[in-house]
Amino acid sequence: MAVVFYIAIIVATGILAARKQRSVFGWVLLSTFFPLISLLILACLSDLGSGWKCPYCHGELPSREVRVCMHCRRALEESPRPSR
Ligand SMILES: [Zn+2]
Repeated sequence: MAVVFYIAIIVATGILAARKQRSVFGWVLLSTFFPLISLLILACLSDLGSGWKCPYCHGELPSREVRVCMHCRRALEESPRPSR
C-alpha cells in the first residue's frame, strides 16, 4: 500500500512539473529520492511559463513563435514593439 502512495506522489510531481512548465524528468527523478519533499517544494515554486501573453485576451502563450492566440484565436504580430 505504501508503494501505491509512493508512485502516486511521483506521478503527481510529474504532472505538477509539466503544468508549471518545469523539467518533468528532473522533478520525477528528484521525487524518487525525496517523494513528499520535492512535491512540496514544487508546489511552492512559481509557474515558470514563457512570460509571453496575448495582448488581446492576456492568456498565456507557450512561446513567442505562436502566430495565433490559442485562447481567443486572434492573429498575433511577430514582434510587437512600442510605437514611437
Ligand atoms: Zn488571445
